[in-house]
Amino acid sequence: MKSLAVGQEVAIKILNSIIASGRIAHAYLFKGPKGCGIEECALEFSKAILCIGDEKGTLADLAPMRTDTAFSLSCGACPSCRAISLNNHPDLFIFEKEGASIKIKSSHEMLKESLTRPYLSERKVFIINEAENMTPEAANALLKLLEEPPSYITFILITSNDLMIPSTIVSRCQVIPFSPLPAHVIAQFLEEEHGVSKEDSLLISAFSNGSIERALWFTTDDGKDVLSNRSILDEIRTSSPVELALRYSKQSADEKGKVLSTLEICFAQELFSQAETGNTGADTSGFSPGVCEDRHLLASSIEGLNTVIRTRERLSANTNPFLAFCALFLNLKRILNYQI
Ligand SMILES: [Zn+2]
Repeated sequence: MKSLAVGQEVAIKILNSIIASGRIAHAYLFKGPKGCGIEECALEFSKAILCIGDEKGTLADLAPMRTDTAFSLSCGACPSCRAISLNNHPDLFIFEKEGASIKIKSSHEMLKESLTRPYLSERKVFIINEAENMTPEAANALLKLLEEPPSYITFILITSNDLMIPSTIVSRCQVIPFSPLPAHVIAQFLEEEHGVSKEDSLLISAFSNGSIERALWFTTDDGKDVLSNRSILDEIRTSSPVELALRYSKQSADEKGKVLSTLEICFAQELFSQAETGNTGADTSGFSPGVCEDRHLLASSIEGLNTVIRTRERLSANTNPFLAFCALFLNLKRILNYQI
């Protein structure tokens, strides 16, 4: 697999220097969007911490943004590295959500494992994925461990929302910042690794919020549906805004998100195709009916896209979904010149 750590030069530089110095802290907080390579970096960093080989790798000689070399800080050949590759390392523990949260059971397991010394490596590493989902009880138990950690334990907390983690925990961690992946990296990954067409890769990368995970969602059946579904425009044309708002405001958060994504993609595709034909709306010298029509289409696409984005913001700010959808469909009918 190609490295997803491209675009994470700052984080990689910090991780490199930590491994080179040999001074491993008790707790790190990997902070950044899901699917930007953060999970891969946490695993590779753990591998390097646990590595018992003589020569550890370094990224120092790699050109920035190079995508054809795997991200590697460990030797890759010692018994510890091999055990991690086989998903079978006795000193590496990965904790994840069970249902909606990371529960106290996980903290109890951490406590139990922290009482015994490492078996194969010099340290034990506990990775806590999506750490913002810890229940208050689990977070409290973790805090106690962080207050007086055994010398051989390292915690790696991964989060896309550190504001949801108690500040008493965050203050005990060294923060490693990760950025959203650049759109061109995502587009290239989709094209080369998943055979997605160039046109779709560009479109998807623009709507992936810097996350490979989100980008890959567009290659699932649900995602493909969002990419190709145009029947929503017919629905808007033939139904009243109130009728549509009643229908969509009752759906689950996932379904609401899906209809907004479908609309965003509709307008974005229109914008992309106009950009390809060279119509940027910047030329004001022509007065032919065709040019006027193109400009109108361009303005409508931008306004439509903005309207959908505003609705998404309103919904995440807990605006009444029925009212938010009413405003959305009423505005879209006007923008698309459909009869209200
Ligand atoms: Zn090794």
